[in-house]
Amino acid sequence: MKAYLSEITESIQGEGTLAGSRQIFLRFCGCNLRCPYCDTVGSLSKTPSCKIFLKPGSKNDFREYANPLSISDVVKATANFDTRWVSLTGGEPLLWADYLKRLAPILVSKGYRMLLETNGTLVENLVDILEFTAVISMDFKLPSAIGIDLFPVHKRFLELAACRPVYVKVVVTPSTEPWEIGEVARIIAGVDATIPLVLQPVSLVTSQVAVQAEKLFDLQLDALKHLEDVRVIPQIHKYLRVT
Ligand code: SF4
Repeated sequence: MKAYLSEITESIQGEGTLAGSRQIFLRFCGCNLRCPYCDTVGSLSKTPSCKIFLKPGSKNDFREYANPLSISDVVKATANFDTRWVSLTGGEPLLWADYLKRLAPILVSKGYRMLLETNGTLVENLVDILEFTAVISMDFKLPSAIGIDLFPVHKRFLELAACRPVYVKVVVTPSTEPWEIGEVARIIAGVDATIPLVLQPVSLVTSQVAVQAEKLFDLQLDALKHLEDVRVIPQIHKYLRVT
């Protein structure tokens, strides 16, 4: 069994409640969504090769391997790095659910802890790898950002993911409306009010955030009416200038 990955690298997790952790990133190709703020556009479709980086956080020091990669190719590449955290990311990693179903138990048996970073839409694909995840980072996509209402599917996804440690991440843009964050908070509270919500202000190409602090304070306060743990965390890897 083989899968298309665009890169395998070790770096610092820049998002969510594990921000700052050192992780190995397995970046899978393909995504079922097209968010206007996507910063991994190079992974939205299948790439002919996968870049395997040789130094943590490096942007230039890599070797290219022809896609698709077998499970043993990925296990071998993962062993080159030092950390025991693996991020399954993309693109949308759950598009490769059959592959992950076989890869995940192998990595777990070798002592890796797995963070699944997902857009929170492929509910059925989550089922088989759920037990192998140490943490699930799921997005709620906002109608003002992507033009469609995915709240019902996000709700179903969260109901399933909630049997594992999970947090919800929302990319906040200048167009985000207060009712949207209120709806996100109400849905999460309906599942478990202790699930953390991370408000992630969208980044400009300069790495600065594109949302005013006053708006973030207000949205956080609104969400805290429903939830116990609401954090504002920008993408820190952009400040560090690492991948
Ligand atoms: S879900 Fe993630 S990878 Fe897919 S288009 Fe949106 S931001 Fe990009």
